[in-house]
Amino acid sequence: CGIIGYVGPQGTDVTSILLDGLSKLEYRGYDSAGIAVLTSTGTLELHRRAGKIANLAATVIDASPPTSGTLGIGHTRWATHGRPSDDNAHPHPDCTGLITVAHNGIIENYAELRHELEQSGHIFRSETDTEVLSHLIEQAYTAEAEHDLSTAVRLALQQVVGSYAIAVVSSEQPDLLVGARCNGPLIVGMGEHEQFLASDIPAILKHTRRVIILDDGEVVALRAESVTITRLDGTPVERRPITIEWDS
Ligand code: GLU
Repeated sequence: CGIIGYVGPQGTDVTSILLDGLSKLEYRGYDSAGIAVLTSTGTLELHRRAGKIANLAATVIDASPPTSGTLGIGHTRWATHGRPSDDNAHPHPDCTGLITVAHNGIIENYAELRHELEQSGHIFRSETDTEVLSHLIEQAYTAEAEHDLSTAVRLALQQVVGSYAIAVVSSEQPDLLVGARCNGPLIVGMGEHEQFLASDIPAILKHTRRVIILDDGEVVALRAESVTITRLDGTPVERRPITIEWDS
């Protein structure tokens, strides 16, 4: 339902940026919420709760110390596959914990993809359609993509039928956030030495007004100092940011 992502300098209060961004997306409705924050040492902190963002925020505050880092993704879920529960809330790591994904939309061929992945030894921990994306991206990342996250996302999505906006991180790359969309809104917010990814503009307006609207079939690689867009086949895309003049 709602996505927020952040990449920037070390020591940023990523948790607060994500929770605040999610609260700006609350108006769209949701049944669960979660965040994944990657610290500069590569530790992934995952918090997911059914219910209100306030429940999630309380869980995060209880976990000490508060997480700061360079990179994180957050999600509000409106369940389509799998009941609303803590375990079905996003973000979803693959079984090795290398790749973590937040997803809006529906993966229509998830049942056959899940079956194939289970046959090759992947262990699933949720009932969602989304979790196939984590495993598919991990499979591509450790094989053909040779640990290049954007390539892994492109290769994985070439196998997917459905609608999606996704935010993806690798625990090996605390400086890189990857997004992609097909029939689901996704935008980039360009900051000074930091970048944002979101399913809607209000989530990032507090931080920047320079926005890139992504098109269907595009994959974006965000680093603190750069934004690189390609098509699913790897063709580079040039796109200038627009300036948002309105207030949310
Ligand atoms: N289909 C996914 C799920 O049920 C994502 C739903 C959403 O867009 O929030 O978990």
